Amino acid sequence: MSEAQIIDGKALAFKIRAEIAEKVAAHQVKPNLAVILVGNDEASLIYDRNKQKAAQAIGMDCHIYHLEDSASEKELLELISQLNNDERVHGILVQLPLPPHMNALHVLTHIDPDKDVDGFNPYNVGLLQANSPQAFVPATPKGILYMLEQTYSDLTGKNAVVIGRSNIVGKPIANLLLNRSCTVTVVHSKTQHIEEIVRQADIVIAACGKPQIVKADWIKEGAFVVDVGINRIDGKICGDVDFENVRQKAAYITPVPGGVGPMTIAMLLENTFDAFVKQNHLKF
Ligand code: NAP
Repeated sequence: MSEAQIIDGKALAFKIRAEIAEKVAAHQVKPNLAVILVGNDEASLIYDRNKQKAAQAIGMDCHIYHLEDSASEKELLELISQLNNDERVHGILVQLPLPPHMNALHVLTHIDPDKDVDGFNPYNVGLLQANSPQAFVPATPKGILYMLEQTYSDLTGKNAVVIGRSNIVGKPIANLLLNRSCTVTVVHSKTQHIEEIVRQADIVIAACGKPQIVKADWIKEGAFVVDVGINRIDGKICGDVDFENVRQKAAYITPVPGGVGPMTIAMLLENTFDAFVKQNHLKF
């Protein structure tokens, strides 16, 4: 068996961003993304600045609204209301995690579903579950599906195992794959004999945040392995998959970095552009 084909998320994302940039340039009004950050978490600040840079690089407007750690939930809800009512703002996202004194579900529910470009408002979560084309699909799962569909024209009947059941990755990618008629199993920290379940998979989505936990002997020959994890070991970033060994067994594999990460940002920009189109009743 030859080595797996490495799926270049960076190159794919570059292509998608260039396509959006072209569409943005065709309009006088720019799509406008509002990013809300509460507190001073270093990683969150870096993520948000990266989103802002990526948006601006393709001609979008993007403003970061930075609230103090001590801000109340009421203040945050008021800011969201103001942005909901501002016609110049097309997309709103609240950087997670929020400080412990805030209720994330309550906050996310407050975002106008038509501006909810992260797709975390329960209204959009429900639309995704109902397989509605109107749903804003969270960026990471959307990017994963995009990569799979570049390789497989039809996912029908494929056996998919999702490792992790978070609201931002595990559950939405499981729903997306189910909507594409995959047979989906979701495993998590309480699942027994995970490796036996993963060994049945044509598609493995590793999203548990455990460095290199997915080993080569968990993988069926010819599987497509998507590594979502971002972990740091001795300052170096690695995924949830033992990349060097798994690539000897799989047919396709996404690297970390350079796989799911860049696709996530590209899909956020796509969602922002879609929100802009929807709110301005444009056709593409
Ligand atoms: P999360 O909210 O911490 O959820 C982790 C999930 O993995 C939970 O469902 C947990 O199970 C499960 N899990 C933990 N240990 C496990 C084990 N030993 N075996 C099987 N399942 C296990 O994490 P997340 O937000 O989904 O993120 C997952 C990883 O993806 C992280 O490394 C994160 O940094 C990365 N990520 C990357 C991107 C990107 O753009 N590339 C985007 C988002 C997240 P329980 O529910 O039972 O606790």
